Amino acid sequence: MSWTDRQRAMLRVMGVPLWQPSARTAVPASEPLGPAPVLQEVPQQAPPPAPTPAARPAPAAPSSASAAPLVDAAVAGLGWDALRAAVAACEACSLAGTRTQTVFGVGHPQAHWMIVGEAPGEQEDRQGEPFVGAAGQLLDAMLHAVGLTRGEAPPERQVYIANTLKCRPPRNRNPEAEELARCEPFLQRQIALVQPRILLAMGRFAVQALLRSDEPIGRLRGRVHRYQGVPLVVTYHPAYLLRQPQDKAKAWEDLCLAASLLE
Ligand code: SF4
Repeated sequence: MSWTDRQRAMLRVMGVPLWQPSARTAVPASEPLGPAPVLQEVPQQAPPPAPTPAARPAPAAPSSASAAPLVDAAVAGLGWDALRAAVAACEACSLAGTRTQTVFGVGHPQAHWMIVGEAPGEQEDRQGEPFVGAAGQLLDAMLHAVGLTRGEAPPERQVYIANTLKCRPPRNRNPEAEELARCEPFLQRQIALVQPRILLAMGRFAVQALLRSDEPIGRLRGRVHRYQGVPLVVTYHPAYLLRQPQDKAKAWEDLCLAASLLE
């Protein structure tokens, strides 16, 4: 991957020193990329089909028996407009009583890249859009550095961004298992509609929802996972990176790994 002056400037804005490509995730600017660096995948004898609702297996059981999704069947066949309306009207968990508004998601409906975050914070709750405020600015800078944007662009450049939870937990507390389970069908349907080529899971709760894993981000990042057949890369949430800037370089490596899978 070669860096334009603009991308180098973006990296400086992020506070990330220019990342030197390694043999695993990048190649010199003058050479084409080799095969995608798939370091850990499900067996490939029978490649899973694209994540269309009809082809996707049933989701794994939620972690809490009392947290069975209430709306799973209801959302399975919804299109974008109906799905957005269903989220806006949802009262399936207690967060409906404390939200200002739901935070559905933004971006290209057929984006090649789909970013999955955790839960809306105060700014997101106010504005109705995921990843705004300082964390959103950092995410935008990182995306720009690899030629991506949340603004209007073709599907290979404009990402789709959604959160695991569509409503803000009060005082930005951690999401509860029941809330995650009840909201999950909406995210599953968004992924099925977008059919992304790469998923970027940002933060612990996005990872829990998509990979059913409680392992720390540090143990899951740096390799390729799969969600319903879609390559998935785990990385740190931008809000965490603002608190722990020493890990920005690792997040940058994760982004480059994801980018290399599509090249
Ligand atoms: S967080 Fe999800 S499940 Fe809970 S009320 Fe909001 S949209 Fe519904």
